[in-house]
Amino acid sequence: MRNVQLQVNTENARYLLNNGRLVALMTVAYSLIWWCLFAPSLSSSLHLLWLFCMLALSAVFYFFARIQSEVIDDFVPAPQLTRYFSLATSSGVLWAVGILLFMPVLPASERLLLVVLVGALLSLVVVPNLLSIRSFNGFSIPLLLALLVSMVEASRTEWVACLVLLLSWGVLNIVLRRAETLVKANFSEGALNRAKALELADSHALMRHQSERDALTGLYNRAIFEQTLALHWRLSSRANTSLSLLLIDVDFFKPYNDHYGHVAGDQCLSKVANLFTQALQREDDIVARYGGEEFVMVLPNTDTKGALQVAGRVRTLMAEAKLRHEYSTAASYVTVSIGISCLIPVAQQSTKEIVDKADKALYRAKQLGRNQAVVAARGEV
Ligand code: GH3
Ligand code: MG
Ligand code: MG
Repeated sequence: MRNVQLQVNTENARYLLNNGRLVALMTVAYSLIWWCLFAPSLSSSLHLLWLFCMLALSAVFYFFARIQSEVIDDFVPAPQLTRYFSLATSSGVLWAVGILLFMPVLPASERLLLVVLVGALLSLVVVPNLLSIRSFNGFSIPLLLALLVSMVEASRTEWVACLVLLLSWGVLNIVLRRAETLVKANFSEGALNRAKALELADSHALMRHQSERDALTGLYNRAIFEQTLALHWRLSSRANTSLSLLLIDVDFFKPYNDHYGHVAGDQCLSKVANLFTQALQREDDIVARYGGEEFVMVLPNTDTKGALQVAGRVRTLMAEAKLRHEYSTAASYVTVSIGISCLIPVAQQSTKEIVDKADKALYRAKQLGRNQAVVAARGEV
């Protein structure tokens, strides 16, 4: 939910800051017109100071909006929105100073013009502040207060104009509040939909992962192994390249379970599976859990020499890991026997051929004393 709120704020900030530069330029133009119209009535040079402050604030506003709208995709918008509000309020205060400065010195004919200009200014800032009633009021309230203060000795016409302006301000507040609620609800709905879509994609990815993986070891399961083997069987036969398959069986795993317990047995299988993953270096190679304490590797585009290298890496990693196994006669640590078969597949034949050959080779590795890799003899099935 917090994420949704953040996205709504970001959209909100995007709208405000995208209009910010325009507001700054509009302020420059408007204050120059104002200054040209009313400055001749002021005897002191205070009007110059006011104009300078107005232009300086516009410049700050312009660069703030420009810089922030460039980084809007990855900022946390709340502080930026507050800064926007502060700048809008400062601008309102400066305009209020302008009213207080010029109103008392203007001839009666021009006082009404000033009220009209204030009204026009208020309606101009409505659109850029459509999504921030706070900023609209930060800007307009100082302005209206200054106008009311300078109305002390105003004529009836000026008062009428001022009251109309106040009334319009009230209506604008209601309209703006409704617009803000509506647009934010829209943003919120969009953000919620995006969040739901992401959640769905995540759970789909998780389900897919679960359906492809073995729960204990995290390796691919037997079904994925069968699919991958069938795929590479076809590809290799078409490309006339060799395909290798390694059947790996943990030695003396029954005694391991019997003495260290089933939980330790599970942990051991998990560690061993991790080592198998480390032994593979090519992107296309896969290792899967074949069943129980048996694993299988499919190595496309790999000849006997390459398969023996991978088997060597597996055995080296096992020797380095030295997972204690006092009930094995092959070594003092957990070892594996590996049956390797390597052939150039023939599309018409079944993938069973390569698996059976590896199985035979594995059987011989066991017979020869375990903790070793044996390559299936040519023509062995
Ligand atoms: P060999 O050296 O001839 O392979 O002997 P072995 O004891 O490893 O082979 P055997 O087939 O007699 O026993 C395999 C054992 O592996 C039996 C079973 O208790 C254990 N095992 C199979 N799957 C799991 C498993 O998921 N978790 C645990 N903890 N043990 C398993
Ligand atoms: Mg076995
Ligand atoms: Mg075994």
